[in-house]
Amino acid sequence: MNREVYLDNAAATPVRKEVLDEMMPFFDQYYGNPSTVYEAGSKVRAFLEEQRAKVAELISAEPEEIIFTSGGTEANNLAIKGIVFAHRKKGNHIIVSSIEHHSVLNSARFFERFDYEVTFLLVDENGLIDLERLKELIRPETVLVSINHANNEIGTIQPIEEIAAICKEKGVFLHTDAVATVGNIPVNVKELGVDLLSLSGIPLGAPKGTGALYFRKGIRIMPLIHGGIQEKGRRGGTENVPGIVGLGKAAEITLRELPAKIPHVKALRDKLISGILEKVESVKLTGHPEKRLPGHASFCVEAIEGEAMIFMLSAEGIYVNTGSACASKALKTSPVLVAIGVPPELAQGSIVFTFDHNNTEEDIEYVLEKFPSVVEKLRAMSPLWRKKKNNTK
Ligand code: PMP
Repeated sequence: MNREVYLDNAAATPVRKEVLDEMMPFFDQYYGNPSTVYEAGSKVRAFLEEQRAKVAELISAEPEEIIFTSGGTEANNLAIKGIVFAHRKKGNHIIVSSIEHHSVLNSARFFERFDYEVTFLLVDENGLIDLERLKELIRPETVLVSINHANNEIGTIQPIEEIAAICKEKGVFLHTDAVATVGNIPVNVKELGVDLLSLSGIPLGAPKGTGALYFRKGIRIMPLIHGGIQEKGRRGGTENVPGIVGLGKAAEITLRELPAKIPHVKALRDKLISGILEKVESVKLTGHPEKRLPGHASFCVEAIEGEAMIFMLSAEGIYVNTGSACASKALKTSPVLVAIGVPPELAQGSIVFTFDHNNTEEDIEYVLEKFPSVVEKLRAMSPLWRKKKNNTK
């Protein structure tokens, strides 16, 4: 039996036992609808509000600044569409970075149909945005700037505090997609200075299909899902009570365990990065070498395809990704790697490892044992590799 090593924690994490236990009674014991006024419902409402406070605490927000959503994608859609629709008199210009998740990119692009202009802010070779360029691009009709806190494909963490200072001075709203950071590094919305922030339950060990949007008190936002009075009229529909309870419990655990998780995953990340760079030739670490997520290592391996590596590693019981899980089946050159200037042929060899608290040093040793031979086998079949070797003879 092969060992199983799971290193795709950005795409999914197991729901934690404590989280599952907390959720269970909300399927059959506390099944009342939280919008009803009798006790079976009002009791559930009280539990729901407790979860809102827990999620708020994780990011140093106030409970009334949290809207529960069906995940990071909906939070990003609600932030962008909700702000742009509610503030359409301010203007018709949106700025997003060129390395956003599709839920941000496509939400912004949606407004091009309504005569909005969308500017895609370029990044440098490490994936960092240029603050001076951002200042130049903001104009009186700019409504919103949306820049991810960290990118899930290359791990680079953006200087959100500095970006927020610029947006505040220029009077534009700032949204950040923090799906890659909440649960992986400390996130404090007050210190970051953002107006809106999206998070997902996935990296926290909460069920898939859970998440939240933080929106600073006093900000006007248009609902996307029109319906009843749930979420103060900002998101209609009976709440996913068990999911929200899971998200709340996972937020509580994350707050408690994050200080120990960070040095643990960072040590594993550094061991993997130095091991791969040492054992495999012609490999490039992508993203910022220091300003990166503690549990994230990403590479481009020359002359072979990411998908082929993923399949061969999976045969050894090692589960990793080529990039964003949401885009990995699209088999297109990653726009994120193109944006940081990786040549298209090299971008084909993308591989991303994301760690969690339950990964061990033995996991990394196992990957370092198997990975070089997977690369070697694939390169033995690669005409590109043969050509490179012939040219360097
Ligand atoms: N933003 C980023 C950076 C992501 O990686 C993802 C996917 N994990 C999302 C948004 C979407 O989150 P969800 O899958 O919860 O909708």
